[in-house]
Amino acid sequence: MRRKLAAGNWKMNGTSAALAELEALSAAPADANTDILICPPATLITRAAQVVSDTSVYIGGQDCHAATSGAHTGDIAADMLIDAGASHVILGHSERREDHGERNEDVRTKAQTAWDSGLVTVICVGETLSEREADNTLDIIGGQLAGSIPDAATGENLVVAYEPVWAIGTGKVPTLAQIGDVHDFIRMRLERRFGEGVGRTVPVLYGGSVKPTNATEIFSVSNVDGALVGGASLKAADFQPIIDALAAS
Ligand code: PEP
Repeated sequence: MRRKLAAGNWKMNGTSAALAELEALSAAPADANTDILICPPATLITRAAQVVSDTSVYIGGQDCHAATSGAHTGDIAADMLIDAGASHVILGHSERREDHGERNEDVRTKAQTAWDSGLVTVICVGETLSEREADNTLDIIGGQLAGSIPDAATGENLVVAYEPVWAIGTGKVPTLAQIGDVHDFIRMRLERRFGEGVGRTVPVLYGGSVKPTNATEIFSVSNVDGALVGGASLKAADFQPIIDALAAS
């Protein structure tokens, strides 16, 4: 059985005071089949890891560099994330692809480096609105999967997040049928490339304007194993009902 994952991406939000939200999340009763991941800004990772130690909440980075160390001002190496207490890293988020020009091959190299360090990667894929309107969604997703995921994927080192770019932070959500079509396609591509054993065990998350009000219906869609949540992960009062909806699904 695939494990469920509720992942929160705090993006460039949160200073010390935000750790109280993490304390509230980690104090809630855990569900044995549902993992919780919070990816705070890098400045909070060490303290966040201390807050969640001895709980079932994982801490992750929002990016790492493709190199293991060196002259890369402002960047973070995978080993540094591990050292700070992270177990996961988000890679290829559309904001990184857009703001930093990250291409599929960059994401793939970063993912291999992250795996070599022992991190679990949450690799993001998703189409823009114009790509969807041009009926290119599955071609785009297929290309991103093929280009961004290294060959050594397993059910333990990889999570895929389907995040339509036009749904991120906009309040717009695809129909359940649209989500289902893409998630079924991702599952099919994972099984075809990595074999059924691996392909069936990689969790596939949906991301894009997930809220307490729509979480239950999104989690009812086949091959949706959880969510990558931005805005609604910043407050425990918003994220906890999403976690609860996933646990109940
Ligand atoms: C995200 O950025 O990964 C995301 C899904 O954001 P939001 O939930 O705010 O749409």
